[in-house]
Amino acid sequence: MLKVFNYCYFVESFSYSSRTLPMEKTVKYIFVTGGVSSSLGKGIISASIAKLLQGRGFSVTIQKLDPYINVDPGTLNPYEHGECYVTEDGAETDLDLGHYERFSATPTSQANNVTTGRIYQSVINKERKGEYLGTTVQVIPHITDEIKRSIKLLGETGKYDFVITEIGGTVGDIESFPFVETVRQMKWEMREDCAVVHLTLVPFLKAAQELKTKPTQHSVKTMLEQGVQPDIIVCRTEYHLNDGIKGKIAQFCNVTIDRVIESIDADTIYDVPLLMREQKLDIAVLETTHSRIPDQLDLSNWERFVKRLKNPKDEVNIGLIGKYVELKDAYKSIDESFIHGGSANECKVNVILIQSENINEKTVSGLLEGLHGILVAPGFGGRGIEGKIEAIRYARENKIPFLGICLGMQCASIEFARNVLDFEDAHTTEIDTKTPYPVIDLMEDQKKVKNLGGTMRLGSYNCKLDPESLCYSLYGEDMVRERHRHRYEFNNNYREEFENAGMRLAGINPEEDLVEIIELKDHPWFVGVQFHPEYKSNVKNPHPLFVGFVKAAMEYKHSLKAKAFSAV
Ligand code: GLN
Repeated sequence: MLKVFNYCYFVESFSYSSRTLPMEKTVKYIFVTGGVSSSLGKGIISASIAKLLQGRGFSVTIQKLDPYINVDPGTLNPYEHGECYVTEDGAETDLDLGHYERFSATPTSQANNVTTGRIYQSVINKERKGEYLGTTVQVIPHITDEIKRSIKLLGETGKYDFVITEIGGTVGDIESFPFVETVRQMKWEMREDCAVVHLTLVPFLKAAQELKTKPTQHSVKTMLEQGVQPDIIVCRTEYHLNDGIKGKIAQFCNVTIDRVIESIDADTIYDVPLLMREQKLDIAVLETTHSRIPDQLDLSNWERFVKRLKNPKDEVNIGLIGKYVELKDAYKSIDESFIHGGSANECKVNVILIQSENINEKTVSGLLEGLHGILVAPGFGGRGIEGKIEAIRYARENKIPFLGICLGMQCASIEFARNVLDFEDAHTTEIDTKTPYPVIDLMEDQKKVKNLGGTMRLGSYNCKLDPESLCYSLYGEDMVRERHRHRYEFNNNYREEFENAGMRLAGINPEEDLVEIIELKDHPWFVGVQFHPEYKSNVKNPHPLFVGFVKAAMEYKHSLKAKAFSAV
């Protein structure tokens, strides 16, 4: 009976989708779950599957389901959650979406990141509207139906052959139970149109000198308790898995040996799609989902990128000045953008993290000496801001290539106001509401904002470039779109003074007349941007500002060498 019911459900949902889908197109759903430990790299595995499927000519999107109660990670600080990634449509999302975009070069959206909080919020809103017609609202079926709706929403756009859904957390966690239950239901309803890829750890025990499969067996058992049999098991490992180990995992976890995939530690995350190709993970996914297997798998651009990355002809040191320097993931997209910009220039970029709180007039030259470029990071609040301003003074006066992002651009405006225009105590009203020179001020429509979640100026906006500007020559076009996440903005009352003193307002948002880019005219490479170029850089299209910044750092390095040589 249950079977009949479920097939009816499937037929119904299919006929609904067929109105928007081209005939015969069946969307396949791939779930990526994790076991044994967090931080095994589910995001990278999901993104690698997408890359391989794209390489075979399929269109793919990747979604992340996060089991926490926050509606989105926008209100979480970097200690809790690393970087907050922003999409074109202004969603504040998990940093894994950054990996998805960097690998697949396909923009994500609000629909690509759903949290438990968002699911409950929408179920509770429906309940208040009376949409459940007097029934008791429960985890099953109402919460799981809502999760299902969020997953199918992407499939029903008609744009994708595959929807890959990464389930955050680890199986067995209380929080992830409704998500795993949804996977069970979808697998039952859709059969071969679904595949479950389970990522686990195969640890090497030094004392025993052995790789151990038991944690993997246990985590698959936990999934089986929740009714889900993984189709493919990807094993993170420090050492190669021989057939004996793979066979053991296959036998205990009810899969064939070719569905046990080794994911060995790699030099760079950008190696992972190539390693997964060797392991035939794409074939395993296509076979499981009864999909056609195109002969060609074209990763030539990707291979070229990795080759350039691994064989640099030059090397530069770029300082990243921020206050979260001890956190690996706080500036993730910036780190990755340097990798893209570095590869484009065949140059290794050593990103040197410098705590802005340690920088002052006395320490600045000691801390920043020897750098070939200085980037001042985005951020919120006053901690370390004077150090950022001091670092910018150093970059400006010593003509070191400089890129300021968001708060970094705001600090560059403050530095210029204080030290070039002699506006004593100039500041942003975010930190000093009584400053006599509020060169950075709250945007007009931000003044009435009460709730902090999702209310910043978020997402993609136009920016018109001055044809005389450095940025115009880097982008090669006069109108660009970039992503934002801020409440404060350059104060238009000071435009004239800044311009007269040598600051070019190089990019303006034409709709609201906001300053988006500043450049110094008498400096070889000094750019401040109110937006976040790091969110748009990917392997296919390294961001022109990062490509240009790395190139400027290389040139600066060589000019120093030439100077030293001529002094001898
Ligand atoms: N705190 C600043 C603002 O809200 C800058 C934000 C950022 O760097 N993302 O405008």
